[in-house]
Amino acid sequence: MSAVPPYGFGLNESHYVKYCFTKLLSSISTLPDLPHPQSEQQKVRDTMLDKLLKIGRKLLTLRVAVVGSGPAGSSAAEILASSGIETYLFERKLDNAKPCGGAIPLCMVSEFDLPPHIIDRRVRKMKMISPSNREVDINLVNEEEYIGMCRREVLDGFMRDRAAKLGANLINATVHKLDIPKNNTDPYTIHYVDHTEGGAQGIAKTLNVDVIIGADGANSRIAKEIDAGDYNYAIAFQERIRLPEDKMAYYNDMAEMYVGDDVSTDFYAWVFPKYDHVAVGTGTMQVNKASIKQLQAGIRARAARKLLGGQIIKVEAHPIPEHPRPRRVVGRVALVGDAAGYVTKSSGEGIYFAAKSARMCAETIVEVSNGGTRIPTEADLKLYLKRWDKKYGLTYKVLDILQTVFYRTDATREAFVEMCSDMDVQRLTFDSYLYKTVVPANPITQLKITAKTLASLIRGNALAP
Ligand SMILES: Cc1cc2nc3c(=O)[nH]c(=O)nc-3n(C[C@H](O)[C@H](O)[C@H](O)COP(=O)(O)OP(=O)(O)OC[C@H]3O[C@@H](n4cnc5c(N)ncnc54)[C@H](O)[C@@H]3O)c2cc1C
Repeated sequence: MSAVPPYGFGLNESHYVKYCFTKLLSSISTLPDLPHPQSEQQKVRDTMLDKLLKIGRKLLTLRVAVVGSGPAGSSAAEILASSGIETYLFERKLDNAKPCGGAIPLCMVSEFDLPPHIIDRRVRKMKMISPSNREVDINLVNEEEYIGMCRREVLDGFMRDRAAKLGANLINATVHKLDIPKNNTDPYTIHYVDHTEGGAQGIAKTLNVDVIIGADGANSRIAKEIDAGDYNYAIAFQERIRLPEDKMAYYNDMAEMYVGDDVSTDFYAWVFPKYDHVAVGTGTMQVNKASIKQLQAGIRARAARKLLGGQIIKVEAHPIPEHPRPRRVVGRVALVGDAAGYVTKSSGEGIYFAAKSARMCAETIVEVSNGGTRIPTEADLKLYLKRWDKKYGLTYKVLDILQTVFYRTDATREAFVEMCSDMDVQRLTFDSYLYKTVVPANPITQLKITAKTLASLIRGNALAP
């Protein structure tokens, strides 16, 4: 007796059904046309073929699991599900409130079709505060422009529900392990603990899929499972503080950014207005993480007058990736968002880049799988990386250089804040942030900006405390 299973080695049952169906379809579609194209037989045959194709699409559909339903995961899932791909969206905590400032650029609202109720506050004023407490106000000039401030539980909840409405199978579960296939067609087995039944312990289950998108954030389990490699990260610490009404009024449409050795030796500290409170926080690179509480005390001291009478309602900390992982696509697994390491330096912005990278990854999967009718290869998925790096590689480089040059010492930070008082610099910075397009200034403006940068760097030494 042969030990070959009825559907042959290397194939499981569902792949075998798909395989037979492909053969059947290709033989039907290569039959020559009947002699009379308008004949009843031809019409019957066309209708049959059409019906078979519809069934075939269902059978041949690719199975994709998206792990994590932050802005990245949900953005990927909605593209996949609306393209007819069998999509599973895993989320361990459906009411997750990700530790985050919640600031999003204006372009995200239209690009990701976010309704107005997602935006708690429209910030139109930004105050930059130097180590010597020199303040520079940046005001948005155009009436319709703003930085959106949102609560992550609201934003993430909205995007996740929309993906589910579009057809993604939402599974409330923690993914903890992958079985990785040895060839290009066998499925990946996802091991997860389902929280929908079985109380707090959950129930251990498995699911087979053809492709996986790891959108599970900075501490990504999927990245570990595929040995994607480590990245450098910053640690961010944040206190949510409810302020008395008069103090909150000051932050109505205003965000503050503080720089200085006392609040961060390599990043910045912030006061961001939220729905009914402010988020006061700071970040520093992992090598200095032992000093994070001292730095938080620094920002609390600097903003003390404005925070007077405030009540701490929540304290949170979380890593912020500072560099892409060494491997972002391995086999048929692709990483997106924080799992891939897509937060920008200087600004620490990651929400838009998470959603955008995931959308680009999902669109690439739809394209290379022919709408879900073939299993893509590692090389196919790497097309997403090529597109991503081409579109945003320069943005990451420029912001990396800015952070290295300006967040180095109190003198360079003084220079940075002084530079921000320049209208040309403000316009350039805000256009890049709000619209995610680096609009090159004309050569005269560029020369002016360069000269002012150098002058500020020289003066910074004199201004530093
Ligand atoms: C303090 C702080 C302030 C920040 N402020 C800003 C800001 O103002 N603006 C900005 O743009 N960016 C900010 N960022 C960065 C931003 O929060 C991230 O870049 C963004 O959340 C990345 O989105 P994501 O979808 O990739 O990952 P996440 O938002 O981290 O989502 C990952 C999801 O996966 C789920 N998950 C994780 N593991 C598993 C698992 N094993 N199984 C199932 N589900 C799992 C999690 O529950 C979570 O819902 C800030 C970060 C920090 C730490």
